[in-house]
Amino acid sequence: MAEKMEFQSEAKQVLELMINSVYSNPDIFVRELISNASDAIDKLRIESLSRPELAGAAKEGRIDITVDKEARTLTFSDNGIGMNREDLVSFLGTIAKSGTAEFIRAMQEAKGGGADGLIGQFGVGFYSAFIAADKVTVDTMKAGDAKAWKWESTGDGTYTIDDGERTANGSSVTLHIKETEEKKDEEESAGKDYLSEWTLRSIIKEYSDFVTYPIYLSEKGKEKKDDEKEEPVNSMKALWTRPQKDIRDEELNDFYRHISHDWEDPMEHIYYKAEGTSEFRALLFIPNRQPMDLFYQDGRHGVQLYIRRVFIMNDCKELIPQYLRFIKGVVDSEDLSLNVSREMLQQDKMTAQIKSSLTKKILDTLAKMKKDDNEKYAKFWQTFGVVLKEGIISDLRRREELIRLCVFEGSDGKKTSVEDYIINMPAGQDKIYYITGSSLSNLQNSPKLEAFKKRGVNVLLLSDPVDEIWVNHALKYDKYDFVSVSAEDVKLPEDAEKKEEKNDGEVEKSGLAKKIKEALGSLVEDVKISGRLVDSPVCFVQKGEVISPQMRNFFKSMGQEVPEEKRVMEINPDNALIKRIASESEKEDFKAEEWSSLLYGLASIADGEPVADGRKFTELVGRLLEK
Ligand code: ADP
Repeated sequence: MAEKMEFQSEAKQVLELMINSVYSNPDIFVRELISNASDAIDKLRIESLSRPELAGAAKEGRIDITVDKEARTLTFSDNGIGMNREDLVSFLGTIAKSGTAEFIRAMQEAKGGGADGLIGQFGVGFYSAFIAADKVTVDTMKAGDAKAWKWESTGDGTYTIDDGERTANGSSVTLHIKETEEKKDEEESAGKDYLSEWTLRSIIKEYSDFVTYPIYLSEKGKEKKDDEKEEPVNSMKALWTRPQKDIRDEELNDFYRHISHDWEDPMEHIYYKAEGTSEFRALLFIPNRQPMDLFYQDGRHGVQLYIRRVFIMNDCKELIPQYLRFIKGVVDSEDLSLNVSREMLQQDKMTAQIKSSLTKKILDTLAKMKKDDNEKYAKFWQTFGVVLKEGIISDLRRREELIRLCVFEGSDGKKTSVEDYIINMPAGQDKIYYITGSSLSNLQNSPKLEAFKKRGVNVLLLSDPVDEIWVNHALKYDKYDFVSVSAEDVKLPEDAEKKEEKNDGEVEKSGLAKKIKEALGSLVEDVKISGRLVDSPVCFVQKGEVISPQMRNFFKSMGQEVPEEKRVMEINPDNALIKRIASESEKEDFKAEEWSSLLYGLASIADGEPVADGRKFTELVGRLLEK
């Protein structure tokens, strides 16, 4: 008896979007359903390794696509793992993935097209059936079970589960193809006819040619003659086994789209063949854009692992370091054992060796791209630089190599590499200066840069959260220390100290610094006459470890302990406002509290922080201006 059930609310939303989105290429559903069928066969084969009772079910895998023109149906059938009732509810009735909300938002924004790319990235492949169908039926039996189940939905928010008809393990997904609307205008291109064998054949060739199981296409009522040989539509070729020179770019791009579910071509491909102690081949790709799950714990990171041409697993995180998780591709090992598990891979020496070789190859490729193709590298950096920088923290051995791959924003308004930074240092500079914070424009205008700018010393503006972490880990590049310009004890290169002789000592004589410190109390560690400010009246610097206010908040929100902040206020003895306050401070009725609060607020603003009490601060400024 059919039981009616509701989709979980996210699933309902995704389904609705799937039905109502505009696709630049609606063919994706064919690729997604074939890919699910192929995964199901893989799963059964792998499961049967540890469950011998399934050996009978795990026959030669095959995928059958059947067209029934009269009934207007298209069926994708596999002899894979199949699903039981519970699987149907949890796999086809719910979406339990992080980032679902972002996906839904991105889909809503992609109204004008581009939804295709999002579907593959997020992995809601099954629901794509509703692009072409107004009803989907899944008839399935789980390997090892004797009971078949039928799942059916018109995509309207509910589905039914009933007894199924299948007699062997696997799934048959039947799409009841929508009637294409009558062409009102001859010029207007009508929707594709997904019941045409020719159309299907060309879609399969284009997007699923690399599927490792044979895909057979047949039409009901057009049974072939006895002597006619059954020919799969796909070539099943393992591209990476061919010599590099024999692989055409077009094939590489097709293969990339097949494994990544991306809709665009990759930015770069990397071919690698290792011989010697460990023998393997790899075909890797750098995508053209960030996948949506790049920053999710449960994201699909890593490459596919094959062992002697047999598929072993998807998303093999063990073969690629975390900071290269945007890399897609295939690794095929000659040496690993076919029944290898993830746990074994984690401890395996050979895996570590493959990982190390691949990392080297990828970083070499990036270094070459950086040298030879500026524009391409700029695009790469913009897309994946923030992930690559994580490696500076985690991969000690390649730290300097990774720093060399970085592209930094300089306070001179230009982009620079660390090598160029060093070459362009003025005489007398022997440190790499940087400033951290959350907004580039804020950093660019920071008063702490003034004295550096004046001396022609470039300062790296580090505005990604990860920057502050790696720079505190790396400490130096080559023989050059990384030095924060926010540090209290930062020494300006060369003749920095001379500056103090230049000012007339008025401010110092007035004892203003001491008066401000008294007024501010524990808000600041100290107040000092500055040697680094040129135009601005005031700024904060830090004693001890430099941690930006933004990072401080971040650590606190994570419940982590942060060393207590030791803020020192520096005042500029050449600045007109400071001079004025200094002379005020020698008068009887000097309002130390008010002037100190003003300076404190100004320094906060310069750091990109809000002032503690905005209303009070505005009032104060108004009052002081009036005077
Ligand atoms: P994904 O394949 O990315 O996990 P899908 O939405 O395509 O997402 O599929 C959801 C789940 O439904 C799959 O993970 C799988 O467990 C199950 N499934 C889909 N198609 C099949 C099939 N033909 N045979 C067995 N299980 C399937």
